[in-house]
Amino acid sequence: MLLILTPNIDPESEVYRQLLAHLSSLQNIQVRVHREEGVEQSLTEVYLIGNTAAISLHDMRSLPGVERAVRVSEEYRVLGRHKGDDRDSHFDYQGVRFGQDTLHVFAGLCAVDNPTNVELMMRALSENGQICTRMGAYKPRTSPYSFQGHGRKCLPYVFELAGKYGIKVIAMEVTHESHIDEVQEALHGTGNPTGVMLQIGTRNMQNFELLKIVGRQQEFPVLLKRGFGITLDESLHAAEYLASEGNRKIVFGLRGMKTNIGEPHRNFVDFAHVPVVKRLTRMPVCVDPSHSVGFRTSGPEGILDVMHATAQGVIAGANMVLVDFHPLPAQALVDGPQALTLEELPHFLEDVQIAREAYEKRMRLAERYRSQEGEPALIVS
Ligand code: PEP
Ligand code: MN
Repeated sequence: MLLILTPNIDPESEVYRQLLAHLSSLQNIQVRVHREEGVEQSLTEVYLIGNTAAISLHDMRSLPGVERAVRVSEEYRVLGRHKGDDRDSHFDYQGVRFGQDTLHVFAGLCAVDNPTNVELMMRALSENGQICTRMGAYKPRTSPYSFQGHGRKCLPYVFELAGKYGIKVIAMEVTHESHIDEVQEALHGTGNPTGVMLQIGTRNMQNFELLKIVGRQQEFPVLLKRGFGITLDESLHAAEYLASEGNRKIVFGLRGMKTNIGEPHRNFVDFAHVPVVKRLTRMPVCVDPSHSVGFRTSGPEGILDVMHATAQGVIAGANMVLVDFHPLPAQALVDGPQALTLEELPHFLEDVQIAREAYEKRMRLAERYRSQEGEPALIVS
């Protein structure tokens, strides 16, 4: 059960103390408090875990300090959508809003190789009105003999160049808790010129100890990529690991599934799950067409498969696109075969815009039919 307390309730107040004392005295119930400091107000949520069937919603609602009480389903307690639960589904980071209604493109280098290519990438983004990017410094690789990323060494110039070109958020994978400290140190050392969204890759998304550590920090939002060989439910539970530790600023990423059924693409594109994740949870949803498709092949009409896959995700309501670009794909140290070139960036962005407009048109169409039929706006399972 979830109790939403009156906004700005003071944890030192008598009302709060009495409420917590009362809740802690409930038999076989564990109490977990989550505070969210917003720009305008602070929100306190109390999760009651255990035998809550015996507790009445009415009793909970009438307790001083409680604004609302919601019976949450067992699934995805923190991130899920529950009946009567109208909490917001967006977060702000670095002045950028991430929600189920926004769209941001994170075009950038799969792996940072040298300052020249980072600068060429950042400049192209800025010339095309972009404020987000992806930059890999820590690369989990299949072979131990492959390039693993420049790690902490490249962070200062990546952050400084991001600041120089007005990039506000960099998606960057971390594979170990020490990487969070290194990112933090480099950001502070360079005067915080930009922000970082910590990415947990498909290979680490069930590394529960890493999830707990990343979930415990609240400085950085998280992009959690779906596990490529597990069910959607299992991947959503991994997201819940982050949230249950306190960090709710999570974007859920679809990146294709590993199966030879997807061949000749690198992974089987799973972007039909965009609306499913939005229905089951309140997380914004990212699609990664580069790691899904894996190659620069194109259809007979001359549209790259990566652009087709992107459009499929965006037209279904994706909120973020993570996509590999490189000034010289042939020289990229990681995933060159799937990288788009800087010359293709304006084409790519215009194509995304077309898909987004089609999505908005589809929403208006659905709204028109819904109002004719008098159906509710959201069908929650
Ligand atoms: C990446 O985005 O660079 C990456 C390695 O992705 P994934 O974890 O989805 O393979
Ligand atoms: Mn890659």
